[in-house]
Amino acid sequence: MSRSRETCSHEALLLEPSAYAKEVGYSWPSSDRRLAATTKSGRNPLIRKGQKVEDVEKLSEAIANNLSGTFPGPLILPGDELALDPKDPPQSFRSWLNEGLRKNRKLNRKCKTLYVAIAPEITSSVSFMKAGLQPSVRKGSRVTATKSLDPPSPEDIIKYTGAFYHGLLVEAFPGSFQFVPWDESKKSRKSDSDTGYVGLLAGKNSTRIRYRPSPDGVFKYQLNLNDLIDAAIEMLTGDAYSLLLLVNHDMYEDEDDVFCCGRAYGADRVAVVSTARYHPALDDHANIDFAHMWPTSHCKSYVDQLCGEEGLRQDTEMATRVANTSGPLRAAVEAIRGFENSALEDPRGLWFSRITRTVVHELGHCLGFAHCVYYACAMQSSSCMAEDLRQPPYLCPVCLGKVSHAIACELEGRDEAGKYEYVKDRYRSIADFCDSWKHVGLFAGYGAWLRARLEQLDIT
Ligand SMILES: [Zn+2]
Ligand SMILES: [Zn+2]
Repeated sequence: MSRSRETCSHEALLLEPSAYAKEVGYSWPSSDRRLAATTKSGRNPLIRKGQKVEDVEKLSEAIANNLSGTFPGPLILPGDELALDPKDPPQSFRSWLNEGLRKNRKLNRKCKTLYVAIAPEITSSVSFMKAGLQPSVRKGSRVTATKSLDPPSPEDIIKYTGAFYHGLLVEAFPGSFQFVPWDESKKSRKSDSDTGYVGLLAGKNSTRIRYRPSPDGVFKYQLNLNDLIDAAIEMLTGDAYSLLLLVNHDMYEDEDDVFCCGRAYGADRVAVVSTARYHPALDDHANIDFAHMWPTSHCKSYVDQLCGEEGLRQDTEMATRVANTSGPLRAAVEAIRGFENSALEDPRGLWFSRITRTVVHELGHCLGFAHCVYYACAMQSSSCMAEDLRQPPYLCPVCLGKVSHAIACELEGRDEAGKYEYVKDRYRSIADFCDSWKHVGLFAGYGAWLRARLEQLDIT
């Protein structure tokens, strides 16, 4: 079913969680708690001696309203991760800062490289694996093979990641690695009909990787995520802060899974991301509404429609406030006008834009960030592809505080003023990247969001 409505003009934008959020018992942290979540002390910075509680609340509310056109609340639509798990505990800046495991994994000058290991080469002795790279989708009752499309370029992914984690080294993992035969495969296949094995060879080390057909029939083979994580841990070297392994095959985590797109083992500082399910040919299959991916996911009439299907009505004053005003979210929505129709002119660019968000999200876990429940944010958890594409590419104030503290303060030794400068430099570096990709909707929107945000920061 396609929800796309060509006439939608995205006039009113929703800046707070949907009516459905309340229905499922998610309570949005108050403006006071959200401010407190950004500080070292864990206290609202507006609290001064002798000040009345009501005054602090009023002032916090005013600041939150001002910020809402930049950092709206998480949408939380039916089926979204926070709707399924509304009590997921928040991780404030303070709780991240004091997290025990972090002591052994702070960034330092000797250990500040984020490695991206590029999809292993498929050697001729396991050439059957190539058949696992193209999805096939169902049209009515017929299964159709999709047009072949090269996966996003790893060089572009590395470049984007370097801009997003401005100040860190992001590099391709040196050395080659390949899929090779795994000796056990013949005897093991007898007992378990569906599961086979290949080896992932990195240097002299070969790791056993299980594979099976994807349960929904979209891919001929999918690889076991836990085995890939084991391989990534083996590959981690001394100067690596973390390692992200990129694969173009579909993945699964356990027996009951249909698929998964990415996972990080933060404590081990390794992550694996699969490009497979972000293939634009799967959009109908995944029920993607092209007209309402971020930033237009905040379109009020779109949210109303989805909540309306659950018998709910949005009752909000804040929602329409940015309808006619400027600000980063509005700027992003304006910047992608017309992209609904042209989005498939560069399907590979569209595919790439989706991967960038997952890559920086998983690397965020390697830096110790938990899933975000405070705002719409690149560190939000997602339950399905449609939700994934509704989430923004930027970090909210809480998560941005963590990144800038880790890089500007802990790694570069800057003070608070230096951290503020870092935030602006980082925004500029991502905006420059977006400029060179502005024919792709997500980057056009993100670029506009960044420029408008920089303007706000220059005024204050
Ligand atoms: Zn995550
Ligand atoms: Zn966040």
